[in-house]
Amino acid sequence: MSDCLFCKIIAGEIPSKKVYEDDYVYAFDDIDPKAPTHVLIVPKKHIRGVKEATEQDAEIIGRCHVAAARIARERNIENGYRTVSNVGPGAGQSVFHLHVHLLGGRPLNWPPG
Ligand code: AMP
Ligand code: ZN
Repeated sequence: MSDCLFCKIIAGEIPSKKVYEDDYVYAFDDIDPKAPTHVLIVPKKHIRGVKEATEQDAEIIGRCHVAAARIARERNIENGYRTVSNVGPGAGQSVFHLHVHLLGGRPLNWPPG
């Protein structure tokens, strides 16, 4: 999608610090990290958000979480990390290309704010 920040990052039109990439997903450091590890994992396919996803998108959303687990393993934060998707503006979604936040490297409170 031409007017989407994360589509531009995936295309390399906007720079990012790449953490992981495969045929389906792209992962990069969040520009405003909220934890020592704060990585965004995004499907290469433009999906507006979790609530707009269809059944056909289920596999790629799962792939985002599998990629997050792989990154957590590489970062040695497997003992406790969090994967979060903010769904809708009321929950803080500010970029409307589906993404999973991977947060770790510090104690994580529950429930989140
Ligand atoms: P959300 O608010 O859940 O939609 O998450 C969007 C995330 O994208 C925020 O955590 C931002 O810090 C992050 N972000 C915005 N612009 C960039 C960028 N150019 N590079 C990396 N992360 C970004
Ligand atoms: Zn997009």
